[in-house]
Amino acid sequence: MGTNLDGFAAALVDFDSMPSKSVVAPTPLFERSVPGRIGCNLPRADTPDVDLRSVLGECRSEVNWPEVAELDLLRHFTNLSQNNYGIETGFYPLGSCTMKYNPKINERTASLSGFTHSHPMLQSQSVQGCLEVIHSVQDILLAVTGFDSVTMQPVAGAHGELTCLMLIKAYHQSRGEDDKRRIVLVPDSAHGTNPASAARCGYEVKSVKTDEEGNTSIEHLASVLDDTVAAFMLTNPSTLGLFEPNIAKICQMVHDVGGQVFCDGANMNAMVGTTRPGDHGFDCMHLNLHKTFSTPHGGGGPGCGAIGVKSHLNHFLPNPVLKRVGKSFVLDSSSPTSIGRVSTFQGQFLMAVRALTYLMAYGKEGLKEISRHAVLNANYIKARLKDHLPAAYDRPCMHECVLTATPYKKYGVRALDISKRLIDHGFHPPTNYFPLIVPEALMIEPTETESKETIDAFCEALIAICEEARTNSDALHDAPTSQTVGRLDEAYAVKTLDVRWTFDKAVATVS
Ligand SMILES: *Cc1c(COP(=O)(O)O)cnc(C)c1O
Repeated sequence: MGTNLDGFAAALVDFDSMPSKSVVAPTPLFERSVPGRIGCNLPRADTPDVDLRSVLGECRSEVNWPEVAELDLLRHFTNLSQNNYGIETGFYPLGSCTMKYNPKINERTASLSGFTHSHPMLQSQSVQGCLEVIHSVQDILLAVTGFDSVTMQPVAGAHGELTCLMLIKAYHQSRGEDDKRRIVLVPDSAHGTNPASAARCGYEVKSVKTDEEGNTSIEHLASVLDDTVAAFMLTNPSTLGLFEPNIAKICQMVHDVGGQVFCDGANMNAMVGTTRPGDHGFDCMHLNLHKTFSTPHGGGGPGCGAIGVKSHLNHFLPNPVLKRVGKSFVLDSSSPTSIGRVSTFQGQFLMAVRALTYLMAYGKEGLKEISRHAVLNANYIKARLKDHLPAAYDRPCMHECVLTATPYKKYGVRALDISKRLIDHGFHPPTNYFPLIVPEALMIEPTETESKETIDAFCEALIAICEEARTNSDALHDAPTSQTVGRLDEAYAVKTLDVRWTFDKAVATVS
């Protein structure tokens, strides 16, 4: 290439020359315990010693806390932290997850004592500042989405979906139509949480087909629409990374039979500042603040699945509704038609602090730039890889691209083999085998936060792997070879769950 990036790319691609990773098996801290060793020095007590047993009574058994020095403790947790892969250790192109970098300034503001020390049971007069933070985020989300009301209560994307469906159910109930509207339509490309939320809400789920171009099949939709349909849950941009061009028409078709249209807005990172679901005809949507508006996620939380609704759904919103009255912020639980609470207190409050920090740091123009860069990066990857891993649908993509590894099937290589080999190149694999309708799917979402150098190195690793698939496919079947463990039985831990540690077991393993 003759650029000064050669060294950088080589360092990532030439993994054979890398020393194998020295991994210290994570021994439980209990096994490092030495009686009498202590991890901190407390000042000598200037009060008489008290035997705790005389105050608390005898313990039923020895507690056996690990007794270790401070340095051992520190090393233990530092080593554990290094047995992990995260956005702060490397590129994380997991499609549908928006694994962007979360600026550290968010953590600074979220740890300000005024926020962390405010007790959730405090009266709203005492926490006006906190309520103002939530209200400010709501105001910005209203502007970004084009809806009439927003609530920050749901604590995950899936929870936002469920809340929206509960609102839709309440709406049909209020019109005396709940009994006949039993069906929720979900595209065949949908995220698994969509049918799960619909089923959880008591609906029967029917799948709507995707056409050859990757759009909702209008013909199939028309054939399943009637007055038994409560809602259509549509992801836009879709899980195929494509913008649905017929969105206005689809909303009209569903409305014509009296159904409601929900937007799965987990992919909002593709369109902030450019277009708004509230203007497309949707009745409600959920956002994933932990994806689009920056909070570390992936380990299961915290999450915020804020929802936006059009005014006809306003009076069903979960209680309490946060309102501005004059200069004050009040929590209003007076609506008799509300679906009730969907979470404790105000949901994940510190996520509102992180989101507000992020939203204010970038501002209107910055947020628009973010989305445009996310889209540009995905299209760049799609274009760079087109001769190696073709796109499932050959048209411009949004913030993620869905590629297919079918050309390598004839060499006995599957998408999973390519993904596992990427680990040997130092990259986290992309999402595999989703959406379900794409054979040998590799779904890549680079996000706006990756540099061109990183993206190039990633593409070059994939190109090298594709070459290897043609010439030496066995290397891919053995991958990963650079880690402490190779391919794991992904269901074993679930099937034989055992999270208890005992001394006996430790002794049994040692002997
Ligand atoms: C992530 C995601 C969800 C679910 O969000 P959670 O916060 O994980 O519950 C729903 N739909 C799509 C398209 C997603 O990518």
